[in-house]
Amino acid sequence: MPPCTHTARLGVTRAVTPHIRKRRNPLTDTVLDKRDASIQKHFPTLVMPKYGTLPPLEMHKTRLVIARDGLYIQTMKPWAALTKKVCALPKLLPYGPLEETDHFIAVLEEKVMPIVREEMLPEAARYAEKGKEWQGFVVFEDGDFKYHLSKFKATCSSVKYDVPDNIVADVHSHHSMRPFWSGTDNADDAGGVKIAMVLGSYEPAKVPAFDMKLRYCIEGFFFDYEEPSTEEILEDLIQKKITTIRGLI
Ligand SMILES: [Zn+2]
Repeated sequence: MPPCTHTARLGVTRAVTPHIRKRRNPLTDTVLDKRDASIQKHFPTLVMPKYGTLPPLEMHKTRLVIARDGLYIQTMKPWAALTKKVCALPKLLPYGPLEETDHFIAVLEEKVMPIVREEMLPEAARYAEKGKEWQGFVVFEDGDFKYHLSKFKATCSSVKYDVPDNIVADVHSHHSMRPFWSGTDNADDAGGVKIAMVLGSYEPAKVPAFDMKLRYCIEGFFFDYEEPSTEEILEDLIQKKITTIRGLI
């Protein structure tokens, strides 16, 4: 009778080493992938100190800050700084408070709009007369705000253009179509920091000849220009300041 192989192996004992897989705890793992390090260096998220202060934001940088009541975005350009609330949180956190600050609005009203009114609107109207879109920029160069006429190719439904450096405001016209943010506009505004403006509903007999929409574009976050309340408009009229969108143009 052949030996039972099964029985023959019964006496063999082997030390069994348990196979332990090393698992990293993502909450305590301090080894940062260099690609993550690069992303976080260029677009960091900070926690708002309750008792101290945030480190200063470097020029040309943008960062997110989680504060007591929400997520904020901050940006620093040579021509203005901005802190805007991106969204509220479902509950208060044990962090410091942060307030919105808007230095873009003064640039918009005092620097950009005079260029739009005096230099851009006549050009946009010339194209609108032919039923064509139009594109122009306000740039910040040598410490000053300038109209930049980029090379562009316009049709009745699109405009292709060269993008300059140091953009402050990106202005385009939809001629007689209403001003709105198209999918192409959203894609064009998805990166960088600028004020975006779209002109439309062109009617030469109307004053002003264009309607307009405005927004701040901060690395893909869009903040629509809010029309002032009736009380604010009345106060501005008393102060001889007209800051409604229609008043701006
Ligand atoms: Zn558009």
